[in-house]
Amino acid sequence: MQGLMQDGPLVLTHFFERAETLFPKKEVVTSTRAGIVRETYGEWAHRSRLLGGVFDQLGISADGRIGTFAWNTARHLELYFAAPCSGRVLHTLNIRLFPEQITYVVNHAEDEVIFVDRSLLAILGPLVSTFTTVKHLVIMDDGAGDIPASFPGVAVHDYEELLAAASPVEFHVTDENRAASMCYTSGTTGNPKGVVYSHRSNWLHAVAAMTADSLGACERDTILPVVPMFHANAWGLAHVGVATGANLVMPGPDLSPAAIVDLIESERVTVAAGVPTIWMGVLEALEGRDVSSLRAIPCGGSAVPKSLSEAYRVRIGIPIQQAWGMTETSPLASGGQLKSEFDDLSEDERADLRATIGMVSIGVDFRVVDQVTGERVPWDGHSRGELQVSGPWIAREYYNDSRSPESFTADGWLKTGDVATVDEHAYLRIVDRTKDVVKSGGEWISSVELENEIMAHPAVAEAAVIGLKHRKWGERPLACVVVRPDMELTKDELLTFLDGRVAKWWLPDDVAFIDAVPRTSVGKFSKLELRQRFADYTFPTD
Ligand code: ADP
Repeated sequence: MQGLMQDGPLVLTHFFERAETLFPKKEVVTSTRAGIVRETYGEWAHRSRLLGGVFDQLGISADGRIGTFAWNTARHLELYFAAPCSGRVLHTLNIRLFPEQITYVVNHAEDEVIFVDRSLLAILGPLVSTFTTVKHLVIMDDGAGDIPASFPGVAVHDYEELLAAASPVEFHVTDENRAASMCYTSGTTGNPKGVVYSHRSNWLHAVAAMTADSLGACERDTILPVVPMFHANAWGLAHVGVATGANLVMPGPDLSPAAIVDLIESERVTVAAGVPTIWMGVLEALEGRDVSSLRAIPCGGSAVPKSLSEAYRVRIGIPIQQAWGMTETSPLASGGQLKSEFDDLSEDERADLRATIGMVSIGVDFRVVDQVTGERVPWDGHSRGELQVSGPWIAREYYNDSRSPESFTADGWLKTGDVATVDEHAYLRIVDRTKDVVKSGGEWISSVELENEIMAHPAVAEAAVIGLKHRKWGERPLACVVVRPDMELTKDELLTFLDGRVAKWWLPDDVAFIDAVPRTSVGKFSKLELRQRFADYTFPTD
């Protein structure tokens, strides 16, 4: 027997029309060089429809890829919806990739047009001659940067001039499985891989993020995506904002801690999301500031140290809310609130639970699989295996990429490359990325856990642990530590502090004091770069 309910496609035009008709007075606020610029969802929707007209005028194909090379702004949000709602595919380009990787992804996705912030032309401009399919460059004037006289073979336009001359279009998408957007992974090993989201996957992912046990986002919220709109689908926040009618606050190019705190304070932000390194910086800028409007600080992309989350709880009354995901998982796939059964635990025990990645989101299935036997590991909190996930917003393959078979199992699950444990409460803990685990004498040391303990030392601002070659043990951990300004720390003091907090054989063989931990293109600690920096290093114990 079949259900007797109507069928309707899960398409982004639905979200768009909600903002346009139900929340026309709510706002998209952009921090620009010239100050705060406000646009209502009513204005935003009209401009997005004009943008659809611009795509037609420029002759962009029916499913043409529309590249963006931009900060988080209202214009970027116009593109975020005008592209998929007109049937095209939004392709957000990571402005911090290496030049040759930018060329690779533009050509691989076959972008027909790129919308670029003027202030970013200095990065994109020199690469335009390497693009094989780009016919148009549309410059979004954000008040800084030079515009080169011409780009041979590419027509150059001004965003506002195109909009002023365009006519609004009707949006009509009926196939929920149509591609809506694409995002490439940041390519720490080899070329970036393309993930193609559908209308349906973006729709379902956004609705899951709105559930109370996830971000619980709603119309009353004012959401600040510090996470770039080119990083993993902006964690779904652009879709969530538009669908719920929440105000969106776009930080533009200034992502300094002071600028972020200014926005939280002046716009009364309720939800602010970014990677841990962002919140490490913001913590130092909270003195004397009023951030009482905040109700949630979702954070992921790399492990959230317990000490960081606790520092927020103590300072402003709310801990950081850890989430886990990947570009391939849209990205929200796990995280969320503590179960009610943990209400009676001590604050410290609850903080320990927040250092896990919580439970999988509704809609996502998971298994933790022993990498040798291929069997599921028991839910005992210490048996490790690879985390594999499946669900309607998890990629099933990469775009035109022969590397797909390595990343997906024969029965269709995504192999995340993350090593995890799962406990009796179904709470997942990321032990490490497969490639970051320190393999010492046949045993594994979790760099994530070790970093967590090191960062609990009050004098430590940042720390990253890497495994380096050791003749006897194969690999041993080197702790790369940044000491807080005005504080002092010696290797012996740190090792004494760690003694008892981690197993003896986990203690780092050496501590390198460095000025700053290098960052990846999406602001995570770059262990690749650290490993390169210490490639010729020999341990004193070796
Ligand atoms: P890239 O793979 O290009 O670095 P992603 O943002 O897609 O970019 O990275 C996904 C990876 O980030 C995950 O596989 C995992 O290793 C790491 N990650 C994400 N969230 C967390 C978290 N809360 N704790 C630990 N690691 C995380």
